[in-house]
Amino acid sequence: MREGVIVRSTGSWYEVRMPDKSVIKCRIIGKFRLAGKKVTNPVAVGDKVMVEMESKGGTGLIKEIVDRRNYIIRQSPRKKHFLHILAANIDQAILIVTIREPMLKQGFIDRFILMTEPFDIPVSIFFNKGDIYTDEDIVTYQYLKEVYEQVGYNCYIISALEHKGYEQLNNLLTNKVTLFSGQSGVGKSSVINGLAPHLDLKTGDISEYMGKGQHTTTFAEMYDLGDNTHIIDTPGIKTLSYNHLEVQDVSHNFKEFFAVSPNCRFQDCTHRNEPKCAVKDGLEEGSLSELRYNNYVKILEEIEDQNYWERNS
Ligand code: GDP
Ligand code: ZN
Repeated sequence: MREGVIVRSTGSWYEVRMPDKSVIKCRIIGKFRLAGKKVTNPVAVGDKVMVEMESKGGTGLIKEIVDRRNYIIRQSPRKKHFLHILAANIDQAILIVTIREPMLKQGFIDRFILMTEPFDIPVSIFFNKGDIYTDEDIVTYQYLKEVYEQVGYNCYIISALEHKGYEQLNNLLTNKVTLFSGQSGVGKSSVINGLAPHLDLKTGDISEYMGKGQHTTTFAEMYDLGDNTHIIDTPGIKTLSYNHLEVQDVSHNFKEFFAVSPNCRFQDCTHRNEPKCAVKDGLEEGSLSELRYNNYVKILEEIEDQNYWERNS
């Protein structure tokens, strides 16, 4: 058996990159589970797997998944009660957003960070389409940059169209495995094409994503930009729901709230109506962000509504 890395998965077949850089088509036999949870894909891009070659056809069998260093998981967009692993064993994530075309969806950044935070995966946020930002958009950007950099997520402006802002991006990527993510239409494929024109990823037309939501990327895929530099492109995200999470999962992963929570009177404080809450104090003093807090409360309410309906239906 040899160890390889999953670079693409289409559902029934997995493409595995072997140490000699050849890519072998593999199947998986048997059931793999994630700590008892139902997942739509037992093996994800980035997973290290043990492969045994089949006797003919040049295809392989995946016999074992090597323990994951980390992974990014979301509720499956198609099957509500299943989880979907976006990628495994990554060094960092780059979130591509834009302030206009399409307009930035309030709360999306915080929802995304909720996926990376459980494993402390570093996130950088790239605001694409900088070429069309108005003065007002720049003010919005400056505000968001301040909010997110204070919590530890660096923000940059980039323009795939004008090929500007690529120095920082290139520097960040060197010798790392980086996940690229973003809502459909933000220009993620265009940004990646700007990094590696030979990939020639399909880019969408505004009318396509504004309308029926046609996807250009359907499966996650890992590309090599150098010997030790890899990127994982993932399908554009429409929305992120968190029905699989508990309240604690959320409160523990808004890290600046969690950091002050030992000073709340109640150990299980959710930072809403409880008396003597350190998060509330922080908001009042201005050391914590209202924007982050409002998004936090919205996610909690969504989860509680969901739990309520599940218990009573
Ligand atoms: P994806 O769905 O995130 O992969 O987005 P695409 O790369 O397919 O781009 C969606 C649309 O945004 C296309 O019409 C692109 O031409 C446009 N676009 C991408 N990057 C830029 C940019 O930097 N500036 C402007 N003005 N448009 C861009
Ligand atoms: Zn509190």
